[in-house]
Amino acid sequence: MFGLKTDWHPDVPQRSFTLETYEGGVARWCPSCGDHGILSAVQRICRDEQLPPEKVVAVSGIGCSGRFPHYMHSYGFHGLHGRALPVACGIKARRPDLQIWVATGDGDCCSIGAGHWLHAIRYNMDMTVMLLDNSVYGLTKKQTSPTTPTGLATNTHPDGAWLPPLNVVETVLGFTNVSFVAKTVDWNPAHMYQTLLAAYHHRGLSFVQILQRCPTYTPHIFDTWRSDPDTIRLLVHEDGVAVDPPVARMYRNRVEHDPADLAAARQLASDPERIAIGLLYRNRSARRYDQITVRGLGMSTEDKLAALDRELDRFAI
Ligand code: SF4
Repeated sequence: MFGLKTDWHPDVPQRSFTLETYEGGVARWCPSCGDHGILSAVQRICRDEQLPPEKVVAVSGIGCSGRFPHYMHSYGFHGLHGRALPVACGIKARRPDLQIWVATGDGDCCSIGAGHWLHAIRYNMDMTVMLLDNSVYGLTKKQTSPTTPTGLATNTHPDGAWLPPLNVVETVLGFTNVSFVAKTVDWNPAHMYQTLLAAYHHRGLSFVQILQRCPTYTPHIFDTWRSDPDTIRLLVHEDGVAVDPPVARMYRNRVEHDPADLAAARQLASDPERIAIGLLYRNRSARRYDQITVRGLGMSTEDKLAALDRELDRFAI
């Protein structure tokens, strides 16, 4: 066209992102709550990977962990009870370009959301799922959750929780089409960061159980593992979670574990006393349902109408 320069490009300055970029509202979790550190780890990864905040979505369900999206300066969805995972799957289905962080809790995921948990793992859509496990319903003031240790007095079981707690990673490792299962502890930020970073880089649904301190309602449940690092088994492997030197020095009880070995992963997960942290299992070839849901995305309205007409014509009499 006359007078219009076509070889011109706007000089858009390169954007760079700092930790502050991802800071949302002031976190109102209790002082010393482990959730603060988990939030910081996610924000650090966003910064280190230079993720545009408009390409990040934090999704949650109910409970203390449900506050997570409010504290991220990104897109967010605070879902209903147990519904974090179907919401996240819906987002991924229509916006595969977004990086999804799901924050769910032991009650939200393993109790009211257990059905969604099973199927989201099987659907294996590309997202990072963090189970913030404090072993109690904290937001509603200390009711027994599926992971409450037997004997712990709660408001629903004042004489002590009656049932044995659910073994989260052992359960996930029994689901179909599982893709990435890891475990970490919030009181070791270096290991938690590397675990979440590995989860972020995995393509498929990465599930990370994070033992999360709740100083208000379950202040002593992790005492053994916190006071004696030798009670923790640190999983090491070239395809596992990267181990920083201070982490290696702290956890001398190291186990060489190939995350491709599902039977060995189940064996490690089955011991509730000497917990194993790191990457338990990874299957890069697990089928991803988001590779189905992206089909047809970006079609023009004309193409969609034409496709609809073709389908309807099949039923013409
Ligand atoms: Fe954290 Fe427990 Fe307070 Fe909830 S009740 S914010 S989990 S310390």
